[in-house]
Amino acid sequence: AKERGRNGFSFFTSTMQEEMQQRLHLATDLREALAAGQLIPYFQPIIDTFSGQVVKAEALLRWKHPEHGMVPPDLFIPIAEEMGLIHEIGDWIFLETAKLAGQWADIRSQNSARPIHGQISVNISPRQFMRGNLCDQWMPRLQSLGVPPHYLVIEITEGLLLSEQSDVVGELARFREAGMQVALDDFGTGYSAMAYLKRFSIDYLKIDRSFVNELETDTNDRAIVEAIVAMGHKLGVKMIAEGVETQRQRDILQEIGCEYLQGYFYARPMPAKEFLDYVSAMNSE
Ligand code: C2E
Ligand code: CA
Ligand code: CA
Ligand code: CA
Repeated sequence: AKERGRNGFSFFTSTMQEEMQQRLHLATDLREALAAGQLIPYFQPIIDTFSGQVVKAEALLRWKHPEHGMVPPDLFIPIAEEMGLIHEIGDWIFLETAKLAGQWADIRSQNSARPIHGQISVNISPRQFMRGNLCDQWMPRLQSLGVPPHYLVIEITEGLLLSEQSDVVGELARFREAGMQVALDDFGTGYSAMAYLKRFSIDYLKIDRSFVNELETDTNDRAIVEAIVAMGHKLGVKMIAEGVETQRQRDILQEIGCEYLQGYFYARPMPAKEFLDYVSAMNSE
C-alpha cells in the first residue's frame, strides 16, 4: 500500500494523479495499438437454449499491451471514446468480425460438422452511432468482402435510444433494411425504456448479467426476468441471457423460455481459432 500523505487529501490527490497518468499513458499507447496489431477480437459463444448448439457469438475486443498485459475493454473503450479513436477501432473490429463470419460460414458449407450458423454480434459505441452514416459506410465494405449482411448483428445500449441528438430510429432502420439485425444490450440496467421498444426496430434483447446472477436465490429477479421475457416475446423479440454461470441458471432460463444463453457456464470469450475448435466440438456431439 502507498504511504499516506500529511493529510488524507494529498493521499487522495496522488492516487487521482496516478490514475490520470496511467490513463494518459494508455491513451498514448492506444494510438499505436491498432497499427501494432495489439488489438485482438475474442469471441464468446451464444448457445441455443433448446438444442444446446452454438448458433451465434459476440465479438469482444482485447488489448494485449506489451508491458501491462491484457487491458480490459471497460478501461480502454472509454479512453478510445474520449480520444475519438473509437471510430477507427470500431470500423476495424466490425470489418474484422465480418471477415471471420464469412470464413466460418464457408467452412460450414464445406463441412457437415457445421461449425457455426455465422451470425456474429459486434458492440457499437453510442459515439460511433451518433456520428451517423455508419450503415452507409459499412455496406460497400461488406460487399467488397463478399460477406452477406445477415451474418452480422449490432449490439447497442439503452442509453442510445434516449439520445435526441441523432436520427437513431432512422439509422437502426437502415441497418435492418440492409439485412443486419439489432440487439439491445444490458437490458434492464438503464432507463428500461420499455416504451421505446415499440418505436425502435430491435431483434434481440440481451438480459443483463445482474438479473441472471441472482436468478437462483432472488425470487424478485426471477419475476423480473419472467416479465422481461414475456414482454419481449409479445413484441416479437428474441431473448439472450448474459452472464449464465451455472446449470441451475440455465435450467431456469429454459423454463422461462429464453431462446439464447451466453456466459462462463458454456465458455469465456476466446481467440478466433479456439472459438472455432470449441464450436466444432460442441456442435458435432
Ligand atoms: P458487454 O457488451 O456487456 O459484454 C459482456 C461482458 O460480460 C464481456 O466482458 C464478457 O466477457 C462478460 N461475460 C460474459 N459472460 C460472463 C459470465 O458468465 N460472467 C461474468 N462475470 N462476465 C461474463 P468484456 O469482454 O470485459 O467487455 C466489457 C465491455 O466492454 C462490454 O460489455 C462492452 O460494453 C465493451 N466492449 C467490448 N468489446 C467492445 C467493442 O468491440 N466495441 C465496443 N464499443 N465496446 C466493447
Ligand atoms: Ca455486448
Ligand atoms: Ca451486455
Ligand atoms: Ca456492459
